[in-house]
Amino acid sequence: MKKGLLLLILLMSTGCTSVPQSGSTGKIGVIVSILPQAEFAEKIGGDRVAVTVMIPPGASPHSYEPAPSQLTQVSTASLYCAVGSGIEFELAWMDRITSMNKDMVVIDCSKGIELISGDPDRKDHSGTDPHIWLSPGNAAKIVENMYQGLIAVDPDSTEYYTKNREEYLQELQTLDNKIREALPASLTKIMVYHPSWGYFCRAYGLEQIPIEKEGKEPTPQDIAQLIDLAREENIRVIFVSPQVNTQSAEVIAREIGAKLVLVDPLEKDYVENLLRVAYLFAEV
Ligand SMILES: [Zn+2]
Repeated sequence: MKKGLLLLILLMSTGCTSVPQSGSTGKIGVIVSILPQAEFAEKIGGDRVAVTVMIPPGASPHSYEPAPSQLTQVSTASLYCAVGSGIEFELAWMDRITSMNKDMVVIDCSKGIELISGDPDRKDHSGTDPHIWLSPGNAAKIVENMYQGLIAVDPDSTEYYTKNREEYLQELQTLDNKIREALPASLTKIMVYHPSWGYFCRAYGLEQIPIEKEGKEPTPQDIAQLIDLAREENIRVIFVSPQVNTQSAEVIAREIGAKLVLVDPLEKDYVENLLRVAYLFAEV
């Protein structure tokens, strides 16, 4: 109820303003959905952008609902960088967000990325794996899409954005090389609670075995099967992420004598975080 009223007020109050920049700072207002995108936007945009992230640290893009104060930011932004791969937050909110600011340019960061389809029987977008940002190769494509968005809304700064983009793409290339070096050829499978690492696994020839089933805790039968599978595959480590509950992961870990290791798919410090994750996977 409240949400509807707020949106109505925002719609009415932004109706006749068309100032594309965040008035008080003179910076280009850029909105992103998740923290790694905020990192990318700041790397390309430097001090010329003011970045707002919709899904705050610790929140899950699969369930988060924006606060009214965040929706206010939308009304003054020039650019919204949507992940575009079907994260639930965007499926539920993008129409409302874009309707609040008709002048805002909206770009799809998943453009050019080959999506991994989840259940082939599900033809809707929700059947695809939305975690596209978790490989350096995909991150480079996301950066390129965001760069295109930035030069569209702020063409005067093209040279500056181009230089920043080149530097960051180089960092991503170095990251990719380091991950390849870090992962031993003997590593083929990782067990994870939440299946965030599909794109990482595709890039580096790994396979993830998820505990969670379609966003839900597994049934006791699922758990029994996973325990058998983990024993077969000699799983020593189960990777869990801070955004999701890990009860069944603990049960399985106890049963097979594995340990739980925390890896965060949504940390802002993208390059360092992904390298840390690769080292943790490599230790398995
Ligand atoms: Zn996820």
